[in-house]
Amino acid sequence: MTMQTDVAIVGAGPAGLFTVFQCGMLGLSCQVFDALPEIGGQCTALYPEKPIYDIPGFPKIAAGDLIAGLEAQAAAFKPVYHMGAAVTDLKRSNGRFDITNANGVTVNAGAVIIAGGAGAFGPNKPPLTGIEGYEGKSVFYMVRRREDFAGKRVVIAGGGDSAVDWALSLSDIAHVSVIHRRDQFRAAPGNVEQLKALASAGKIDLVIPYQLKAIEGDGTIMSGVQVATLDGDTKIIPADALLAFFGLAAKLGPMAAWGFTIEGNHIVTDPATGKTGVDGVYAVGDIATYPNKLKLIATGFAEAAGAVHAAYAHLNPGKALHVEYSTAKGVPGQAGTDIKTIAA
Ligand SMILES: Cc1cc2nc3c(=O)[nH]c(=O)nc-3n(C[C@H](O)[C@H](O)[C@H](O)COP(=O)(O)OP(=O)(O)OC[C@H]3O[C@@H](n4cnc5c(N)ncnc54)[C@H](O)[C@@H]3O)c2cc1C
Repeated sequence: MTMQTDVAIVGAGPAGLFTVFQCGMLGLSCQVFDALPEIGGQCTALYPEKPIYDIPGFPKIAAGDLIAGLEAQAAAFKPVYHMGAAVTDLKRSNGRFDITNANGVTVNAGAVIIAGGAGAFGPNKPPLTGIEGYEGKSVFYMVRRREDFAGKRVVIAGGGDSAVDWALSLSDIAHVSVIHRRDQFRAAPGNVEQLKALASAGKIDLVIPYQLKAIEGDGTIMSGVQVATLDGDTKIIPADALLAFFGLAAKLGPMAAWGFTIEGNHIVTDPATGKTGVDGVYAVGDIATYPNKLKLIATGFAEAAGAVHAAYAHLNPGKALHVEYSTAKGVPGQAGTDIKTIAA
């Protein structure tokens, strides 16, 4: 049976999560789709433990904590999340929309708000035989909790910011080897200097110029990785875990064919309302573009508020919406609002 909702939201990154809250404040029900298994978009997938310094009201907050806060704020409205499958289809249906994901879940919505960031993204994986069997047990493309690697022999492959950042971060709790095909890193110069200093002090092994060649293990749990130079010299690095950081491939995918005006990987919108060229469909956050767009989390929050108000007008034609401050009306469905002091 197709589920009904007022608003379908594509993307559970920071912009999508704040869209859920804004919908709730206007009494709109919503259901959220995301291709990733966990909410949080780039904050969860790319930098959960990094501090963010430009979220209003938080002098410093870890990306993962920001997402936890957004989730808690949205939870008041009991949103339904459909995680782990990309949205593949959007069709008009009697003035509403049928939106379907790769698992075959279809939601019928009066309006759609796309908060898809850079599009559905996934890691670029090294072409190693049998790597799928090790994924999630010995091979990882992102770090959720640094402590998971405490006391382990960790091989980090890659030469960009993620590889260097995690090598530095894990160096005091794990035995870290960094495999890179050349001596230059594409990372913040200060961090590269720190990496080299730790290597000189014997606290990190730099395995250069080598590339991954094979995983050694029983098909699930690794015992090491085999690396090779371009000249064919090989060696085995004993390891419990491989962190492979070769960037993310992002694509708009089917969304590019839904009738929007597309610029690069972005949907052109009206900045005040998030309106796309398709009536009833809005876009917010990194995926939305207009002149002088700033791709920041704070921008996405403001866009979410504007798009939800526009969606309300679309869903309730002719009905006046009196904008009320949250201080005046509280959170609908909650008995009162406690004022909390949040430690940054
Ligand atoms: C290392 C790093 C540091 C950063 N630091 C800061 C900072 O200090 N301050 C700041 O303001 N910003 C920072 N940013 C940028 C910030 O993370 C982004 O602006 C923000 O995540 C955008 O939020 P979003 O919700 O629009 O998109 P995203 O966070 O990209 O989330 C989009 C979600 O949509 C999903 N999705 C896309 N297409 C589909 C589909 N077809 N079906 C289902 N799901 C789909 C994706 O899986 C993803 O989960 C940083 C980014 C990086 C990479």
